[in-house]
Amino acid sequence: MPILLLLFSFLFANESNTYWMKVNATNKYERSAVANTGAVIEVVKDDYIIVLGNNREKEIIEKLGFLDTSFLLPSSFYPPKDDDFHSYEEMVQALKDLQAAHSDISELSVIGKSLEGREIYKLRISTDLANASDKAGIAFMGAHHAREHLSKEVPLMLAEYILENFASDSRIQRMVEGRDIHIIPIVNPDGVIFDIKADRYRNWRKNRRPNKDGSIGVDLNRNYGFQWGTGGSSKSGRSDVFMGPKPFSEPETQAIKKFVEDNENINILLSFHTFSELILYPWGHTYNSISNEKDYLVHKTMAETMAKWNGYRPQQSSDLYIASGDTTDWSYGAHGIISFTFELDPATIWEGGFYPGQDFIDPTFRKNLEPCLYLIDMADNPYRSLQSKSQKLGFQHLQF
Ligand SMILES: [Zn+2]
Repeated sequence: MPILLLLFSFLFANESNTYWMKVNATNKYERSAVANTGAVIEVVKDDYIIVLGNNREKEIIEKLGFLDTSFLLPSSFYPPKDDDFHSYEEMVQALKDLQAAHSDISELSVIGKSLEGREIYKLRISTDLANASDKAGIAFMGAHHAREHLSKEVPLMLAEYILENFASDSRIQRMVEGRDIHIIPIVNPDGVIFDIKADRYRNWRKNRRPNKDGSIGVDLNRNYGFQWGTGGSSKSGRSDVFMGPKPFSEPETQAIKKFVEDNENINILLSFHTFSELILYPWGHTYNSISNEKDYLVHKTMAETMAKWNGYRPQQSSDLYIASGDTTDWSYGAHGIISFTFELDPATIWEGGFYPGQDFIDPTFRKNLEPCLYLIDMADNPYRSLQSKSQKLGFQHLQF
């Protein structure tokens, strides 16, 4: 390896690696001094604490005179049995490689940074990129929730499929020419990294916000600013559905907010989650259905249509349980975007729940490809989905 590259990789490694530290902090003042370095206190005992932190934080703790022992944690990659999943670093590289191989019809950008400063990437696919905003837009996003690892593989594979089949498949070619496709595979990079960087999965859901009560994490899918905090979310930082101190308090949801506001041509949004095999549509914050009859029917009809391909169960989100502050209530409620949440494979916890194994990646993508292509096709006018039903419903002509 050339010296310069070696030097860079050394510097980079120091920046991004995480140390496990046993720290001799024995009272709240000493523990606060440790917390002020930015490191995360994981365990508090009477005579020591266990801390996770980067190289810089470790050095400060060392200077404070508190450090007992430390070792470098294995970096944030999947265990060998799940190696086909993409870590954050691998995802970034995959997106860069994909874009470079199809640079005439794709563009990679950063829509914002996570709380810990990681870049949130968006791949945009369209011909004539300079004027893509004039076309009908669609947004796909994954990994709002850290442990839902399949939810970032499916949007990546969708991007790969579209780009790799553009030249040979006339249907894909028409879609890329006629649409402005945005794909954000990882909304919550800090959480995704945290979930896999120990020697076992951590079952982590939220981002990595240090909360005022000493707990960690805001549920990004309860932090959106439409009917925020009106049920199915918690005011407690210790809860897995902590709504955050205010709507859009988190840099990750702020990034999505700005992205949607900056792209007024987006007509359809799909947010991938796992698991349960469901197709969900608004509302989540109320048991009422969408009051605009036509919009309600569009969501219902499209969900039922897509269910024929992936075999998932289509339903209004609140038929499961009330949940406020989620992405799709906001994207439909605040922007009128036809919005769906897919809860991907598997169906149950007995089949692996959040961790079904890498053998699920390919079949899960395959069964969701046609629903995704259908949404891209419909993005110019989602109300077209009602046309086959319009006679039955007695509509003379639908005004779009
Ligand atoms: Zn989720």
